[in-house]
Amino acid sequence: MSARSDVVVVGAGVFGLATAWQVVRSGRSVTVLDRAPVGTEASGWALGRLDPLLRGSGSTGTVERDLPAEQIAKPEAQQKLALDSYQLHRELTPQIEEISGIDVQVDEQPTLQLFYSEQERSAGADLASAWSSMGFPTELMSQGEIASLDSRILARQFGGALVKGPYFVDSLRFVRALASCARHEGVELETASVTSVESTSDGATVHTDQGHYEAATVILAAGPWTPGLSEPLGVEIPVHPSKGEILRLQPKSSERFGVHVHGPCSLVNKKDGLVWVAATAAEVGFDRTPSDAAREQLLENAGKMMTGADDWPILQHTVCFRPATPDDLPVVGAISDNVIVATGGGGSGIVQCLYVGQQVSAMLESASPEPDSELISLRRFV
Ligand SMILES: Cc1cc2nc3c(=O)[nH]c(=O)nc-3n(C[C@H](O)[C@H](O)[C@H](O)COP(=O)(O)OP(=O)(O)OC[C@H]3O[C@@H](n4cnc5c(N)ncnc54)[C@H](O)[C@@H]3O)c2cc1C
Repeated sequence: MSARSDVVVVGAGVFGLATAWQVVRSGRSVTVLDRAPVGTEASGWALGRLDPLLRGSGSTGTVERDLPAEQIAKPEAQQKLALDSYQLHRELTPQIEEISGIDVQVDEQPTLQLFYSEQERSAGADLASAWSSMGFPTELMSQGEIASLDSRILARQFGGALVKGPYFVDSLRFVRALASCARHEGVELETASVTSVESTSDGATVHTDQGHYEAATVILAAGPWTPGLSEPLGVEIPVHPSKGEILRLQPKSSERFGVHVHGPCSLVNKKDGLVWVAATAAEVGFDRTPSDAAREQLLENAGKMMTGADDWPILQHTVCFRPATPDDLPVVGAISDNVIVATGGGGSGIVQCLYVGQQVSAMLESASPEPDSELISLRRFV
């Protein structure tokens, strides 16, 4: 078969779908191609944390540590991008839920950052006043105050900080809702495995196992698989798979704890009733096997943060891949006259996707090879 659209997007993860949704609303015809059902990769398995302030918990961290402020908070550039992206979620999520009819399970539970040293506590005090003045009320808590919040939480004498504003969604429901919004506006979603992309005199041709697709512009949003499609076009983009594992535990007590406990890992009692323990990060290529080492690390950290958590039954042990970049910021830009890349969400792609979609849509409108935001421009690498 051979079909033509104004725009073909490769990848139906959050980056591809948010982009397709924004682009179709500017009046262009859009086809999205994916080899698998919506949400098969990281977009459907992520923790779903929308946090513009604190660092992610994908780490090999232990509680025996001493973090300065710059390792508790996101670095400045990431925070700037995350704040803009977070605002877009706040604005657009009601619309996404209404159009799609899907409840994305917005969960406003605050984040309790635990401190493990005096240095962390003093760094946390500075951050608390900065975040409060930015509109994210943050309260320092003593060990005793944390115990009265929930006696199961294991805080040290250094206490913690309770941050309001960061929240959660269910990633799988969210990516499905984006797909539904895109379809609602006329986006065609097709199952096809893309083998290569070729620039032509008046656009680009996408070769797939289902035939060819012609377009004026092709957007490569294939997550960590994007470099495999861009390299034959002569552009190496610095994106690699960072393997992340999460455990979903069945808590012993039916009493839900209503705060996200954040330390060397994230412990979240999600709306599905399970406690998600997230996440590991490993540079081992596309290895989909759940590892014993990750399970042990996550359980050990969980047990140090909440009484008995390391004994709760594991209902699910998931693996997915962050599209990681050297500076943990996305890469967006044209790699030829008619091909644009939009990837590199790393551990924050759910937060960033609506912002990236807007930036790509604006590039098409202005026929610009680069996004407005220098922070995410491919230009910083090539
Ligand atoms: C453990 C873990 C936890 C995370 N938690 C959070 C979080 O709490 N908050 C947050 O903001 N972010 C989080 N993230 C990050 C987030 O999940 C990713 O950044 C985001 O999902 C990436 O979206 P994407 O659309 O770029 O890629 P993907 O979701 O990987 O989608 C890429 C799509 O391209 C398709 N594809 C690839 N190659 C081809 C091909 N040749 N032909 C056709 N289709 C193709 C794939 O099938 C896939 O559907 C987490 C990630 C991990 C690993």
